[in-house]
Amino acid sequence: MNPDSSLPQLPESGQGVRVPGRGAANPPAEPRTFSQSLGDAGTSRPRPDEATGNPAHADPVFEQALEILRREIPAPAAQGASEDVGKGTAGRDAGAPRDEPIPARMLNEFVYCRRLFYYEFVEGVFVESADTLRGAAIHQRVDTGSGALPAAKRRAEAAKPKAEGETTPSAGPTDKGLLPLPGGEGRGEGEPETIHSRSVQMGSERLGVVAKMDLVEVRAEAVKDTSGAHPRTLSGLPSGVTRLRLAMAGQARPTLREETGDLFTALEVCPVDYKAGAPREGQEANELWDTDKMQLGLQALILRENGYTCSEGIIYYRATKQRVRLSITPELQSWILENVAEAKRVVTGPIPAPLVNSPKCVRCSLAPVCLPDETRMLARTVAGRTSAAGGSPGTPASAGSFPGESAAAPLGPPLVGRVTPCAPLDPAESPAALAPGTGAHPRTLSGLPSGVTRPTRPPALEEEQAPRRLMAARDDTRPLYLNTPGLRVGCSEEVLQIKDKGKVVEEVRARDLSHVALFGNIQISTQAVQSLCELEVPITYFSMGGWFYGITRGHGLKNVFLRIEQFRLAREEGRCLALARQFVHGKIRNHRTLLMRNHLEPPEPTILKLKRASEDALEAASAQELLGVEGAAASLYFQQFSGMIKTGDDLALPAEQRGATDASQLAFNFNFANRNRRPPTDPVNAMLSLAYSMLTKDCTLAALAVGFDPYIGFYHQPRFGRPALGLDLMEEFRPLVAESTVLSCINNRVVTEKDFVRAGQAVNLSAPGRKRFFQMYEQRMSSLITHPLFDYKVSYRRALELQARLLAKALTGEIAEYVPLLTR
Ligand code: SF4
Repeated sequence: MNPDSSLPQLPESGQGVRVPGRGAANPPAEPRTFSQSLGDAGTSRPRPDEATGNPAHADPVFEQALEILRREIPAPAAQGASEDVGKGTAGRDAGAPRDEPIPARMLNEFVYCRRLFYYEFVEGVFVESADTLRGAAIHQRVDTGSGALPAAKRRAEAAKPKAEGETTPSAGPTDKGLLPLPGGEGRGEGEPETIHSRSVQMGSERLGVVAKMDLVEVRAEAVKDTSGAHPRTLSGLPSGVTRLRLAMAGQARPTLREETGDLFTALEVCPVDYKAGAPREGQEANELWDTDKMQLGLQALILRENGYTCSEGIIYYRATKQRVRLSITPELQSWILENVAEAKRVVTGPIPAPLVNSPKCVRCSLAPVCLPDETRMLARTVAGRTSAAGGSPGTPASAGSFPGESAAAPLGPPLVGRVTPCAPLDPAESPAALAPGTGAHPRTLSGLPSGVTRPTRPPALEEEQAPRRLMAARDDTRPLYLNTPGLRVGCSEEVLQIKDKGKVVEEVRARDLSHVALFGNIQISTQAVQSLCELEVPITYFSMGGWFYGITRGHGLKNVFLRIEQFRLAREEGRCLALARQFVHGKIRNHRTLLMRNHLEPPEPTILKLKRASEDALEAASAQELLGVEGAAASLYFQQFSGMIKTGDDLALPAEQRGATDASQLAFNFNFANRNRRPPTDPVNAMLSLAYSMLTKDCTLAALAVGFDPYIGFYHQPRFGRPALGLDLMEEFRPLVAESTVLSCINNRVVTEKDFVRAGQAVNLSAPGRKRFFQMYEQRMSSLITHPLFDYKVSYRRALELQARLLAKALTGEIAEYVPLLTR
């Protein structure tokens, strides 16, 4: 293993370099480049449809994809789709599992947080955390039971008047999986006989719920046998004889009580659940948490619905090694039923609002997906701006509440004051109360006065509402780059083995990887692919020159609702243009910042023009106009790019004096005149192309991780095999990651002119040069920045994922618009 934890794992590279036919080290597509915008602006095919100006309408592939989606996914019933923006439309009427029984553990989540319940039950999002892993470990043993439980038919018969035909026990009698009570051998005379049944699954159609119970204790009450000399149990057998087990297996003779139909009316069952944590400390004794009450109480109700007698349940808290009992009272029962009814309403959408500054979010494994504080902040900011600008129907500002919040009425009456529904919006937080400014300025699309582009927090809430960082600043997993031709990747027990000429040169735990990037002729075994797919570690494939071929990954695309919104909005010209403006605006702004920070002498006219161009991008009336703005800005920027290359005095010397050993190296230097590609013909362009290719890969992975279809974009035209959304997301990150990496490599002499090879017209990095380049790229991706909006530290890789999640929230209407990442 490579001890350097901050750098990618890189076995020693070979020397061979293959230049692919399609051009070396090129990104799959660059929507606009310097050379295009200057040289062939009039002849190159613009991305938007010539007639409509809508990128989404331009390609038959796109239409075909939409047709397939329309066939496979029921169309949302939402009418006036565009009017729903800002109200959290995803999931609404779009095939939410409203008829599926709700598992008891999901109702546990519902009591914790309705939004968490929605994510997990409706959208199928699940993220592991230390807590969930601990819980899973605890359940490993209890989940090994067969789930058998003695039938409750006689009890059911006894309870006939309540039309029990509607429910049937789902566990039949068998002696498998039934365990006598520990210490049962020493049970005293007259003490009840107890059987433990593990992993019992049962449901109630009437309630619309199911439960998997860790353990059910089946107790038979002790009675005196008045006819014999021996003390007898209810089963009619002497104490210690497990007649109950025989009865369950259908092997026992009927007893007097059985013959009178009385046996099972006297059977008492008690669900026992295992929890990793500790109980809540009550005034007089330890208590169950509300979430546990919900889950355990529901298990008891399900047992009752199936004909069993159940008057209490037990939770075993592992942390304190304590059993805490819960009595099934009428109040508890009605509280549970109210929550079940409310959960069924929540299932129909929209997604409930995030909790307000809740400590629950700190422990929530879905916090990095939910982004509670960030979502609230952006929703408030935009709502406040809209309100200040006069508002418009259909926006959160005019609705007067957070998306989805108005529908989340608190439950009542609460169970003895212990229900904790999602906190309603504090009136002090209402958009009207937060509206800043006078609204007198002319406003851009983003609702800000022209020239003011960064959303700001409402001043009154600046302090107490600052978003908390509820996620790790950077990943604890690392990418694995392999670029030595002839390597073979195998797998043994989740450990990847990298072999060179039959010898293991590297071993990496698959769980420690964020993704695997394979360059050129590298073989990977089926076992390794399966293992990586199972762990949701994507494998990306590149040509030796850096061409991004594609991805293999597991079943990751679960969030169908997001993709429905993505496909729907990709057809709306107005929404595409609104998003495209933000992408281009972000790119130009960050280009300007990079020049200001790194240029030897920042050229004032260019800086000023780029500022104007970034504002023009926000006001572009059509995609065509936006393309023109972007092209002109790119041209300005690349004209000044060479001013940021500071190679030092050594490069001023002739190549021979700089130690060039090969005649072909004499041609290499870091002079940059303009952007060229397919193939790149000089070292700077070769590195730029490779950096864009890396970034395309990471943006595509981020889009996939969030649940997008990376091939449907809003600015970039759909084209076969082109990750258009990845390219959209990439715009604002080009200067921040790709171009910054190239400049660092050159200016810090990490890559020198000796690290390049020429093949025909194409110039490429040699294998050792590429290895150092990957290291610099990963260093950049994992370097920490203070997020300009949220004010906490995150890596660029995390920031990229955040942007993808904000885009998802903009599409589903949780926030009104996408906000690009703009560095200060
Ligand atoms: S982060 Fe907070 S608001 Fe979001 S799902 Fe978790 S508990 Fe709920």
